[in-house]
Amino acid sequence: MSERDEIAVVGAGLAGCLLACYLARRGYPVALYERRPDPRTGKVERGRSINLALSERGLDALRRIGLDERVMADALPMRGRMIHPVAGEQQFQSYSVAGDRAINSISRGALNNALLDAAAALPGVRIAFDHRLVGLDPTTGELTFETPQGKVAETAAVVLGADGAGSAVRGQLLGYGVLTESLDFLDYGYKELTIPPVGGEFALDPGALHIWPRGTSMMIALPNPDRSFTCTLFWPTHGTASFASLGSPAAIEQHFAEHYPDLIPLAPNLVDDYQHNPVGVLGTVRCAPWQVDGRVALVGDAAHAIVPFYGQGANCAFEDVVELDRCLDECADEWAAALPLYQARRQENAEAIARMALANFVEMRDKVASPLFRAGKRIEHALERALPGRYVSRYELVSFSTTPYAEVRRRVRRQHQLVGVAAAGAAALLAGAVGALIGRGRRG
Ligand SMILES: Cc1cc2nc3c(=O)[nH]c(=O)nc-3n(C[C@H](O)[C@H](O)[C@H](O)COP(=O)(O)OP(=O)(O)OC[C@H]3O[C@@H](n4cnc5c(N)ncnc54)[C@H](O)[C@@H]3O)c2cc1C
Repeated sequence: MSERDEIAVVGAGLAGCLLACYLARRGYPVALYERRPDPRTGKVERGRSINLALSERGLDALRRIGLDERVMADALPMRGRMIHPVAGEQQFQSYSVAGDRAINSISRGALNNALLDAAAALPGVRIAFDHRLVGLDPTTGELTFETPQGKVAETAAVVLGADGAGSAVRGQLLGYGVLTESLDFLDYGYKELTIPPVGGEFALDPGALHIWPRGTSMMIALPNPDRSFTCTLFWPTHGTASFASLGSPAAIEQHFAEHYPDLIPLAPNLVDDYQHNPVGVLGTVRCAPWQVDGRVALVGDAAHAIVPFYGQGANCAFEDVVELDRCLDECADEWAAALPLYQARRQENAEAIARMALANFVEMRDKVASPLFRAGKRIEHALERALPGRYVSRYELVSFSTTPYAEVRRRVRRQHQLVGVAAAGAAALLAGAVGALIGRGRRG
């Protein structure tokens, strides 16, 4: 394939825009197709603002092409979790041992717009909004889009599907029988609420990610540059204390007064937000293969949507882009070799973060509130101080490093085994010492 052949990227979301930037910098003409109108001119859909925690993996991808500073101008650092119990004081738990490392709160819309601006400014990138992919022939690269002017046909040498969790590209590959998928939805959904500024200032500490852990459900809140907070409820969709069980204003108020009492004075539009904001679905998407014949491939959520509880979906999508770029480097832009290599390197990592994200839901909604968990965190930080660089917590490895996710899981398992062995050794020594003392006592 000549370097002048156009690459089609379907979906101008986070991964698609970043991918367009990376490909344009390699000298490819890129056609970026997006089903929505240009989001830079429109309004955010109610209750779908979504602020993301952007951490090292995402920042690394932005830094490599000089976009980090522009993006970080809209971000707010969060150095730890602030736990809100039902009664009593808020408790701060720092993310890193020295308390200096932060994940960054940024609105998905602001991030998307910054990336769209960056892509649009590069020579060779053309963006077609209002283009919804409805057909793809993976053997020829022929694409069909629905547009306000009717159906439009296009062709591309390579088609990259960055069209999110409900990917139409993935759907087309499924229809051709060249891919299989599994979708695991949680029995939980999410809904957004807002805490507005109070007297022009943040109503809560803006340097933390706030969590209201309530056992089987939870709420989180992340700060915004306009000094508001976006809260997200993660609740069961059905059953008692679920989205389905709360309808009337009185029931909503009573539930929040009982379970989230400190929110009541901070959220004057609570009932209106609750009643009118939509409930989003949460789930894990797995599929294989991620590429077909070196001509079509999936990137980001289209290949591996995950639940948001480790704050890694977008970070992971950005890592895909970096890896694909690396594979193109290593394969001298031979797509037929680069795409299988990209899949081989990323698949186990996507699976690893999918599992860690599911496990972190239990930690966030339940464990963070327990004194045992807090004691465990203190021990973990003490180990990190005692064994710098040798013992590193899972959270640090996931959020503050680019260690591949699968390697993070293996390393954490090894660390736990070592700590277990050390603890068993210490216990044996202690038992031996106690035994000797008792023996001496008997003899004496
Ligand atoms: C509540 C919540 C909280 C989250 N928190 C975090 C977090 O803290 N940190 C983090 O890293 N991630 C987080 N995520 C995940 C993150 O939002 C996603 O992983 C990320 O947006 C994936 O990027 P993407 O480009 O792959 O997909 P998307 O951002 O979904 O973009 C897909 C794009 O494709 C377009 N499209 C779809 N279908 C078509 C079609 N047929 N034709 C043309 N275009 C199409 C869409 O309009 C969209 O623009 C969160 C997600 C949720 C739901």
